Amino acid sequence: MYKTIIGLEIHTQLLTKTKAFCSCSTDHFNSIPNQNICPICTGHPGTLPALNEEAVKLAVKAGLIFNGTINKFSRFDRKNYFYPDLAKNYQITQHFFPIVSNGYITIEGKKIRIKRMHLEEDTAKMFHEGDQISTAQESFLDFNRSGIPLLEIVTEPDIESPSEARMFMEKLRNLLRYAEISTGDMEKGALRCDANISIVNLENNQTSKRVEIKNINSFKFVEKALEFEQERLIKNLEANIKMIQETRGWDSTRKETFPMRTKEDDVDYRYFPEPDLPPLILTDEFIDHIRSTITEMPEEKAKRFMIQYDLPQYDAEILTSDKELADFFEKCVKHAKDAKFVSNLIMTDLLRELKENDDEIENLKIKPEFFGELKELMDSNKISSKILKDIFPEIYKTGKSPKDIVKEKGLEQIDDESELRKIIEEIIKENPEEVEKYKNGKKKLLGFFVGEVMKKTKGKANPQKTNEILLELLEKE
Ligand code: ZN
Ligand code: MN
Repeated sequence: MYKTIIGLEIHTQLLTKTKAFCSCSTDHFNSIPNQNICPICTGHPGTLPALNEEAVKLAVKAGLIFNGTINKFSRFDRKNYFYPDLAKNYQITQHFFPIVSNGYITIEGKKIRIKRMHLEEDTAKMFHEGDQISTAQESFLDFNRSGIPLLEIVTEPDIESPSEARMFMEKLRNLLRYAEISTGDMEKGALRCDANISIVNLENNQTSKRVEIKNINSFKFVEKALEFEQERLIKNLEANIKMIQETRGWDSTRKETFPMRTKEDDVDYRYFPEPDLPPLILTDEFIDHIRSTITEMPEEKAKRFMIQYDLPQYDAEILTSDKELADFFEKCVKHAKDAKFVSNLIMTDLLRELKENDDEIENLKIKPEFFGELKELMDSNKISSKILKDIFPEIYKTGKSPKDIVKEKGLEQIDDESELRKIIEEIIKENPEEVEKYKNGKKKLLGFFVGEVMKKTKGKANPQKTNEILLELLEKE
């Protein structure tokens, strides 16, 4: 029996308009490289940082939503090291006195404790071209990212499996997005994760060395990298291989971790208090004000959905698991006026399409008013639920209205009794053996006849009427 011990260190970019210590824009994706820079965020000697109040507000908000203790006294320190993406040769961070201590997030009823959360600044971004050995290799630096405020969140080693680590990250991101603290976009680097993992053999208390996996940039990779490492560490323990405490990276193409550096190369950062910034003192009024700005969070929203829309808890929890999804649901209900109808469509068909196409809700082509149209088409018996399922992927992909697709493809349900009766009479004529068996008691064959009708009508027959007519004709002598 092995126990897995995992702790996470998460860096998230705060959603401020300007950088942590200067007034440059934080928009580093829609800008050309090195557009949003100044002497402060490029580390010129003699410049002075000025703390962005907005970043402080967001850090406090994060502390509150993660059940943390907001420290009225916190302080900035210098973390000294050399790297080309760090022009000052030090990072301004909070090492000794973080702005938030303690806190937790609940995952399936279990509390995962947060040790601390602190403010710091992001580095510049490096780009490398050419191969590693050739002298033609070039590296580029973009300082647009340099100085963007970061909140570092450090958990206690309370996580016990790779999937729990993934769930933690997903919940954290959802809460950050709900409270508009960060975009939480892992692909764009707005949310980054380092993971610590070690293994204990519960039978003999043998413990593996602790391994740190750096720079994991998707939820899937968090789980995959930890699964790989968990297995590797267990194998090493079983084979009695001498291990070293090391830092490893995740290679997402080869699906394995690789060694980056060992504990021996660990640097001493020579932390000391940042002389250019005074300690950060917060008042109760300030903290209370931030608390009052926190809007509806997922659990509250789920409760409201259950009451307002009369939804089961299961539906409410899935729909509120993402703020954009919850907003989209509410817009659709306004049009369809049938919450359960919308909820079913979203939970099965929409979520499946989103997953298969790897799409985000923000870029959906399907419009909320389409849910109203679909409801109308169903209620007026123009389409069956089978046709609804069939056309959903096309509505999703093309953004064409359901009514247009139904018209274009001639998918309107065959609802006319005499037309249906004619089709069914033909089928009965074509299958005398089955009719005989049915009459001799093999009632299960009703399904066979329904299937034949659907085949002939390409699924357009009104199922209820089909059933009625079939029963009538088969039961009569
Ligand atoms: Zn700047
Ligand atoms: Mn950090």
